[in-house]
Amino acid sequence: MKAALITGASRGIGAGCALAFAREGYHVGVNHRSSAADAEQIAQQCRELGVEAEIFAADVADAGEAHAMVEHFVERFGRIDVLVNNAGGALRMPPGGFIDMPTEYWDGQIALNLSAASYCAQAAARSMVAQEVPGAIVNISSIHGDVTWVRRKALPYSAAKAGLNMLTKSLGVELIEYGINVNCIAPGLIHTKALDRYSERDLNGFNRKIPFGAGGTPADIAELAVFLADKSKSRFIVGQTITVDGGQSIDGAIDSMLDDPF
Ligand code: NAP
Repeated sequence: MKAALITGASRGIGAGCALAFAREGYHVGVNHRSSAADAEQIAQQCRELGVEAEIFAADVADAGEAHAMVEHFVERFGRIDVLVNNAGGALRMPPGGFIDMPTEYWDGQIALNLSAASYCAQAAARSMVAQEVPGAIVNISSIHGDVTWVRRKALPYSAAKAGLNMLTKSLGVELIEYGINVNCIAPGLIHTKALDRYSERDLNGFNRKIPFGAGGTPADIAELAVFLADKSKSRFIVGQTITVDGGQSIDGAIDSMLDDPF
């Protein structure tokens, strides 16, 4: 049976991915940093779908913890067929813009939204090349890897996600030689707990600016992740970042959202 490791899977898009891979019959690793109870709940829901599931506590922004997590996963399931680099997010930014930005804020956002994916991908690729059937890596970026988010001053988040898109291209080219397929999804606004900080009025405003008429759900992202991980369907898609945003990034209105999330 195949095994998929999803980072940041205690809730939101990562949890949606864990459940989608479980539904496809993969054993699942549910990574979290601090929300162990939520992660265990998602793992239990995966088990109820008939697969094995375990939680893996690790701060993936820490290279040592990320590598150890992938090694534990491979020890537990004997293989790694899919890695979804999902953990990430735009942490509340300190007041002021780039001029006042503390270096720690920059470092933290780059570590979480870019370096973490590289740490996990490197550890996973090392195991995958040794396997008879190489696997796939799916990165979760953001439309803000391509479209600025200047009004919210989320500059390091955007820069990190842009880096993740390029990491996907470069790794896609480098690892396809081993049969490992690397691709990326760039979501627009997806309704998860990350949006809890916004009022209903704000969220209605954001939704109105999306041509689809509403934000997406974790399942909208998870279904594509499952497709990209299935090389019988996606083998000729290499190093790509695919936007899934209900048209949000097409209409040019994105930076006019005064307080837009993601
Ligand atoms: P979320 O609801 O805030 O969930 C984030 C998940 O990541 C949680 O499971 C959290 O677990 C985990 N996590 C955070 N930091 C971690 C770390 N250092 N190590 C391990 N796990 C960590 O986020 P989301 O909205 O589902 O977003 C998921 C991904 O999609 C992110 O990469 C985000 O940038 C991207 N995205 C989201 C949207 C959106 O509108 N929601 C749009 C574009 C892109 P703990 O609580 O245990 O830390």
